[in-house]
Amino acid sequence: MSLPRQRLVVLGATGSIGVNTLDVVARHPERFEVLALSAQNKVDQLAGQCRQFSPRFAVVGSEDAAVRLRNLLYPSGAGTTVLAGVEALERIASLPEADIVMAAIVGAAGLRPTLAAARAGKKILLANKEALVMAGGVFMREVHRNGAILLPIDSEHNAIYQSLPREYSSNLEDNGVRRILLTASGGPFRRMPLEDLEQVTPDQACAHPNWVMGRKISVDSATMMNKGLEVIEAHWLFNAPSARIEVVIHPQSVIHSMVEYADGSVIAQLGNPDMRTPIAYGLAYPERIDAGVEPLNLCRIGTLDFERPDFMRFPCLRLAYEALKRGGNAPAILNAANEIAVEAFLDGRLAFTRIPEVIEQTLSSVPWEEIATLEDVLSADAAGREAARQHAAAPRKQA
Ligand code: NDP
Ligand code: MG
Repeated sequence: MSLPRQRLVVLGATGSIGVNTLDVVARHPERFEVLALSAQNKVDQLAGQCRQFSPRFAVVGSEDAAVRLRNLLYPSGAGTTVLAGVEALERIASLPEADIVMAAIVGAAGLRPTLAAARAGKKILLANKEALVMAGGVFMREVHRNGAILLPIDSEHNAIYQSLPREYSSNLEDNGVRRILLTASGGPFRRMPLEDLEQVTPDQACAHPNWVMGRKISVDSATMMNKGLEVIEAHWLFNAPSARIEVVIHPQSVIHSMVEYADGSVIAQLGNPDMRTPIAYGLAYPERIDAGVEPLNLCRIGTLDFERPDFMRFPCLRLAYEALKRGGNAPAILNAANEIAVEAFLDGRLAFTRIPEVIEQTLSSVPWEEIATLEDVLSADAAGREAARQHAAAPRKQA
């Protein structure tokens, strides 16, 4: 007898993670049924996905986009109800019929729907790391309180998850873990002379050597803020103190991360840099399914290199460690300032090297506060954005 199909909601279906998710889903129509999809603006692309997967709901960012989507879909897509806005995202993330929610909206915008999925006790495939960075304590509390299952999709955290004992709980020490080794490619500017960094363009920053990703995370990889956000993400996912999370540059991106145990064993997860591997792992967990990923050819790769990250070249990594140590509202402010600075860089309004400066200035200008509730998180996010906008608009201080 075949099992009932798992009903899936994809938040951020038109993005890089969303598209890869639907690619894996399309390989296993007997396992998965698409219940709801969302996008912000890319209505044409979402209409194509709706035609292919016939979801019951499609959510877009505005009423205007909803009208455009309905015009594209009706009458043939009459089975899909089109909705708009954040409440609609929260609604599809917590539909009683949903089994799995893929959280793949980029940035702080993903927090509320991802939290709604946690409150509804869903199996959450978490790509949207910013949600966890800004709201870690609040988010994990809802996960535990409501019996949600949180599976990391970020390739490093997925690798760590796979390298930890299956029954992992509580903390690293109780599981005999000494360190988490988070690998990083070092991005496109690992070897560029420091004095040339100021002039780099958005397209250069988005040309990642190993991964094809959305533009925001690509810039984060170039500054290594992505790795900083991942240090904070690992802290919350695995209840790991920052001193036990070490970043190692590994330019080939073949080892996706490692766990070092007290007896000296180091367990790693390897694979080609293809997000369909962690996505398929999360979708089918605890089973394994085909993801359409090329087999790893170690003999062709030949060499795996490792080096220590340089905090002078990558100040964003240092800032993220500092924000994690400071706790309270600091990670939410770090994340908010980063989103504003990256947006300004992508719009051509801010030099690449100003990104860490804006974040550092924001962290020192917004007062530290405790975070206890979602409202605290949202107000830290708003304060961080406001301060970062001002710092990004101000002329650069002379050294
Ligand atoms: P993309 O920019 O490619 O896609 C983002 C998705 O979110 C799109 O569907 C977009 O809709 C939607 N979206 C954008 N803004 C909003 C908003 N304000 N409200 C609702 N939806 C919105 O991002 P990625 O797929 O690269 O990344 C998604 C998340 O996954 C990020 O948090 C990233 O850090 C994480 N991640 C990504 C990896 C990757 O390989 N790409 C690897 C590891 C983690 P539209 O297309 O209409 O604009
Ligand atoms: Mg990653």
